[in-house]
Amino acid sequence: MRGQVKVAAKILATLVALNAVVPAFGQSSPSADAKLENNLTTAMAWKQTAAEYRALYHQGFNLARLRVELALAQKQDGTLPLAIISDVDETLLLANDYWGYLIEQEQDFFDDAIWDRWVAENRAVASPGALEFLEFCVANGVEIFYVTNRDQGDSTVQLALDNLNAVGFPSVDRAHLRVLRETSNKEQVQQQIREDHEVVVLLGDNLNDFARRYYSTDLEQRLSLMEEDRERYGRDYILFPNPTDGHWIRAIFGDSEPPPSDANRSILKQAATRSAWTP
Ligand SMILES: [Mg+2]
Repeated sequence: MRGQVKVAAKILATLVALNAVVPAFGQSSPSADAKLENNLTTAMAWKQTAAEYRALYHQGFNLARLRVELALAQKQDGTLPLAIISDVDETLLLANDYWGYLIEQEQDFFDDAIWDRWVAENRAVASPGALEFLEFCVANGVEIFYVTNRDQGDSTVQLALDNLNAVGFPSVDRAHLRVLRETSNKEQVQQQIREDHEVVVLLGDNLNDFARRYYSTDLEQRLSLMEEDRERYGRDYILFPNPTDGHWIRAIFGDSEPPPSDANRSILKQAATRSAWTP
């Protein structure tokens, strides 16, 4: 499981299934939706084939490199060493064949048990441009911190190290890997790193990778918090695309990993038709 608080997630999932948490998307009966298709199909067709999807990773890492180059040029003697902080999954490592498998299994939401089995298989691949960017950082004396929210029990740290090593990333060791098993709140770790480093950029596929204040189930609040920080995107925050999972899902369901039920498929369809022309 990715580091969710499992009991709380189960309670939330039950409430969501009862349409008790998301009135904005839970008003109509699931039976009203005669045709509910697999939610992941379009997102994964895009991830698996679109040059545009891969180009967005290059765009993100090119921007991150520009920020690092600027910080290196402005660095003065005696100041704190430079560092970057990056999320792991769907930022540096891609799990496309995990998601492809889910579709083949007729699953259409993130599945913890399958994820735990998949992580142990070491099948993740580096995202486009990730290796080159990380190697550039190391070659220029910029430290890399991998900060991930994962939970595969006692094996969590070793599995994460194995996944990162399997694709040849640099600085993969316990000093540079921070694993959060019990919470997805990354701010404490970020603060610890900032005590003795100047952090140039944060990289992630989820706004929560940057700041905890985005951890809201209120859609409008999440959108407006992001807009308040618009100047930080492409500067302090380098964001990568993820249409399959993340806290944007949580803002719809109240749960990042909703169970695969017709009720939840209906809620997602209502989110997709939140704005819809009525001729
Ligand atoms: Mg991620």
